[in-house]
Amino acid sequence: MDLNFLNQKEQGNKKNKGRKGKENPKFSGSVLGAILIFMTITALYLMIAGNSNKTTEISISELAKNVSSLEVKNILVEGEKLTVTYKNDDVKTSKKETESSLTQTLFNYGVTKEALALTDIQVKNESGFWYWILNIMPFLLPIIFIVFFFWYLSRQVKGSSMQAFSFGQSKARITDPNDKNNKVTFKDVAGCKEAKEELKEIVDFLKNPKKFLDIGARIPKGVILTGAPGTGKTLLARAVAGEAGVPFFHLSGSEFVEMFVGVGASRVRDLFKMAKKAAPAIIFMDEIDAIGRTRGGGFGGGNDEREQTLNQILVEMDGFEPNEKVIVMAATNRPDVLDPALIRPGRFDRKVLLDLPDRVDREEILNIHAVQKPLAEDVNLKLIAERTPGFSGADLFSLMNEGAILAARENRKKVFQFDLIRAIEKVMLGPERKSHLLSKKEKEITAYHEAGHALVASVLPFADPVHKVSIIARGNAGGYTLKLPLEERKLQSKREFIDDIAMSLGGYVAEKMIFGDITTGPSSDLQVATNLARAMVTRWGMSDLIGPVALGGDGGKLSWGESREDGYSETISTKVDSEVSRIINDGIKSAEKVLNEHRKALDAIAFKLIEVETLEQDEYNKIIIANGIMPKTNEEAKLEIKS
Ligand code: ADP
Ligand code: ZN
Ligand code: MG
Repeated sequence: MDLNFLNQKEQGNKKNKGRKGKENPKFSGSVLGAILIFMTITALYLMIAGNSNKTTEISISELAKNVSSLEVKNILVEGEKLTVTYKNDDVKTSKKETESSLTQTLFNYGVTKEALALTDIQVKNESGFWYWILNIMPFLLPIIFIVFFFWYLSRQVKGSSMQAFSFGQSKARITDPNDKNNKVTFKDVAGCKEAKEELKEIVDFLKNPKKFLDIGARIPKGVILTGAPGTGKTLLARAVAGEAGVPFFHLSGSEFVEMFVGVGASRVRDLFKMAKKAAPAIIFMDEIDAIGRTRGGGFGGGNDEREQTLNQILVEMDGFEPNEKVIVMAATNRPDVLDPALIRPGRFDRKVLLDLPDRVDREEILNIHAVQKPLAEDVNLKLIAERTPGFSGADLFSLMNEGAILAARENRKKVFQFDLIRAIEKVMLGPERKSHLLSKKEKEITAYHEAGHALVASVLPFADPVHKVSIIARGNAGGYTLKLPLEERKLQSKREFIDDIAMSLGGYVAEKMIFGDITTGPSSDLQVATNLARAMVTRWGMSDLIGPVALGGDGGKLSWGESREDGYSETISTKVDSEVSRIINDGIKSAEKVLNEHRKALDAIAFKLIEVETLEQDEYNKIIIANGIMPKTNEEAKLEIKS
């Protein structure tokens, strides 16, 4: 399987944020807590009660004997209980009859007056605190426990019914401008220069609204941040609040919508009320496409709720007084599905687009996230930035983090360049699955498959050069061929797509050619090739037969249940299908041609792969040069890889 990671990134755009979990009263937790407390109390009781029982008990006659022989230093009388302390510091207990006094009893046992005079006798009030506690505890304890248990349960129930009442309240998280620890400023956001420029104006307004109002300028009410996932939309919104030093109300689109109809709308009302009280302030609605989709487009329930919520947002934004100092920011990675009413002038009329970072920006982002990580001297973030086209800010963040984890796992104090290089692959493809053992036959098939991809990429003039070939399983892939564009590009041409398709099919063709049979391995390759071919025909006007017509909207699937009519006829649709298969067939032919002409090189790469499993660019290039193929090179992008 090959991974052209520019495409890979695009496919990653469908990430969705899960809904925030709601705290449920944990019934089992409360029972457990009660039992625990009960056990603690019991243990305490046993300890206190047990302590006093440890001393030996003697009979009253024995006590009398001891007093006579002057062994006793002191007797403590508490009711009928006697605590006897001997001259050798032994402590024993005894009991007397309740009615008669101790001296009388001892007399009766024949103790002389002199002996009694020499013994210290103390009488203590028998209503001592512990005396009572110890006597009552056994009866009281279960009652206390039961009362406590019911109190505990009722408190839980009350809590949850309170929660039911607070459904309509806004769930916004508020970031306080004076909170130094969580403060984000523009300095923490690398790149995005145009976006920052746009947003500086907003910051300026929030800091100094009078200047704008005096001159009669109408302040933007809404700013919408769009861009691929992980490009820093949320981060940038927080930075605006941090720069302006105003409260920041943060809420995700999905959090508005609950099971009950009408909750979303009332949450919106509540949120705006709170923000107006705190003005100047920023309201930030993350992932607004969850509620802001085009209205009336779908079927099934649930839509009503979304529409009401959206309507309420529109109403609230219209209801702003001209000098109300609340700015609504929103973020989405699907600006194409937003309701047009939401983005008309007077609402979210400012659009700020965040691009995937280019090489310079990537280096800057890496630098930001390298701050708290001790880097070894050999680390060259410029090279890492060169090797990561298509990575978003979030990917780069995770790359630095993975690098540090790799270093820590090997007990090193610093992060080295090869940690970061391994981290690139980990972020891109998932962890290596070395334990995934291949049989000898499987290994051969995988080796030829990957060699097929690599060789087609090296021979066809418009495919990207090969960076690494491996038959070690990674993530879902059984093996992979990494290719990297020579330079960054925003636009791709038809010629490049055609070679890309051939490259994707290289594995399939090689398997068929060498083994005369096909495995399930290339299924995702075929998917990639087919998607690309279809997009060429229907979106980019790259088919001569169909011509430059965009068919079927954005080609993307809308959310559940919603579908967009493909606005074209059966005839066209048949033509599209035949064009797609023609492009695929051309790709197969061109891959077959390459592999037939360079059969020797194919064998050489496959043999080497079976032997060493992973080929870096240098070793790979050596093999193809030996077989008369010139590798595409770019001095700048040349990397030293040590891993
Ligand atoms: P999204 O666009 O999906 O809202 P986030 O703003 O949540 O993306 O970004 C995720 C993480 O990626 C951020 O917390 C930050 O660490 C990192 N990041 C993204 N873009 C940048 C950037 N331009 N500069 C620095 N860090 C960035
Ligand atoms: Zn493949
Ligand atoms: Mg976000």
